[in-house]
Amino acid sequence: MKLIFIGPPGCGKGSNAKLTSKEFNIPQISMGDLLRAIVKSGSGLGKKIGKIIDGGDLIPNDVTLEILQDRLKQEDCEVGYILDGYPRNIGQAKDLDKIVDIDKVLFISCSEDSIIQRLSGRRMCKKCGNIYHILNMPPKKAGICDKCGGELFQRHDDSEKVIKHRLKVYHEETFPLIKFYEKKGILEKVDANPPVEEVFEQIKKILKH
Ligand code: AMP
Repeated sequence: MKLIFIGPPGCGKGSNAKLTSKEFNIPQISMGDLLRAIVKSGSGLGKKIGKIIDGGDLIPNDVTLEILQDRLKQEDCEVGYILDGYPRNIGQAKDLDKIVDIDKVLFISCSEDSIIQRLSGRRMCKKCGNIYHILNMPPKKAGICDKCGGELFQRHDDSEKVIKHRLKVYHEETFPLIKFYEKKGILEKVDANPPVEEVFEQIKKILKH
């Protein structure tokens, strides 16, 4: 099963992709995570990518395509995968069309108010990348990851100013993908406004059909 999860930043696509990955035993491929790992490596490319991420813009398509192709070569992708955060514009969708056949695209939609609320309270573990929310999903001990004891931090691109820019980029570049996949007849809509368990129930229903 080859899936794409598309949605605005903060709609919960990463959390739902994680749950789906466990339920259906297919890897979650988060382009954001792959890019952040390159930033962490401290390489020249990592420095360039880090600047773009911090400003809330998209990394050039040739760079993301190469990263994706490398990841898809790994053995765990033979059973299928969830592309979480890729493609993010029509150029990437056309690149992807040339290399794989996607079964379903899940459009995870969510109101703008809840996006800002979710993103501004989001915290991430420096060590393992686990995600928390200061109100909705707080860690047991403030500022510390429950899983590995790592320090939690707020992503630079989760600041209010950058969130607004990321939303603009989403509307201009990513939203047109909804029509693109609708035309192909593989788009399914998921309402991400209810609590996460309910959202995941909708996803399971779609994927078990
Ligand atoms: P995410 O973790 O999905 O919120 O992504 C964080 C940031 O990584 C985005 O704001 C972009 O700067 C970059 N990014 C993630 N996925 C892509 C992509 N498919 N194309 C270009 N840039 C991306």
